Amino acid sequence: MKHEIIDRFKGCLYGQAIGDALGLGTEFMTDEDIAWKYPHGLQHYKQIYQDRHRKRWKIGDWTDDTDMMLCIADAVIEDKGVNFLNISKHFKAWANGVPMGIGAHTYKVLMIGDYTEKPFEVSQMVWRMSGCKSAANGGLMRTSIVGLFPKEVRTCAENICKLTHYDPRCICSCVIVSELIHALVYGMEPQTRSEMLDTAIQYDADICEYIDKAWLETDVKNLVCYDNCGYTLVTLSVALWTYWHASSFEEGLLAVVNAGGDADTNAAVACAILGAKYGYSSIPTEYIEGLLYKETLDKTTDSLLKFVADSSCFEFTD
Ligand SMILES: [Mg+2]
Repeated sequence: MKHEIIDRFKGCLYGQAIGDALGLGTEFMTDEDIAWKYPHGLQHYKQIYQDRHRKRWKIGDWTDDTDMMLCIADAVIEDKGVNFLNISKHFKAWANGVPMGIGAHTYKVLMIGDYTEKPFEVSQMVWRMSGCKSAANGGLMRTSIVGLFPKEVRTCAENICKLTHYDPRCICSCVIVSELIHALVYGMEPQTRSEMLDTAIQYDADICEYIDKAWLETDVKNLVCYDNCGYTLVTLSVALWTYWHASSFEEGLLAVVNAGGDADTNAAVACAILGAKYGYSSIPTEYIEGLLYKETLDKTTDSLLKFVADSSCFEFTD
């Protein structure tokens, strides 16, 4: 694999983890909370304010977003490819452990008894029980790795999302982000705004407004909302904003983290894209070295690079 591809591939995985770990510092905070707790802004893991929510994690640890991404990674490494049922088993095993930060919707789905036998049916049922309204960002938060697969990116993004999140808005968010990362990492032409709008229409017309807002807005704070902050389209919008408006990894990271709301998830998705765009070599060392479980990420990245490099070795089980 070419050196530049490896750099962007690694950038995506580390970007996700870094955004998640630093974003925890402002998760669920409003502008006022941030101004009070971080008068000069949040820049470093060690500044993370230790209140009841945050002190459950050690400094430099990531949250559920990256844990679930690593569930996908571990299943893919085991299978040397994609087997949706095995991914669901990894999700379930994680949820049966200590799933810190797990979202309410994801928890409901994973706790149903026969989840691992029929994950798609269970996921659809829980979504229907919400009146087909639940559209949280739990599928989107872990989708970056799907963009690194050498083939079947759209099918994988759709189905891995549907393992817990069945709403078309969730599925489309995963498709847009995974395809964008795939194009950036492998040096293909990324979808333009107008092509993204065409994709969005195929799933749910409501998505278009969030793509347009990301394109037109000058301040990312105006995209983050505090009352429905786990909504998939808000996270999609924030992530696309950084892709279009941030001129470096660090600039995008700090803009999203200091906007609060669902900051760990927003920054995990945004920084996976920025890492894929600008590469691992563009990420300031302190963010990489400060990750508490950097060694886990190093090992996973190396294992993935070994066989993802050769698409003919990548098995796809429908
Ligand atoms: Mg989280």
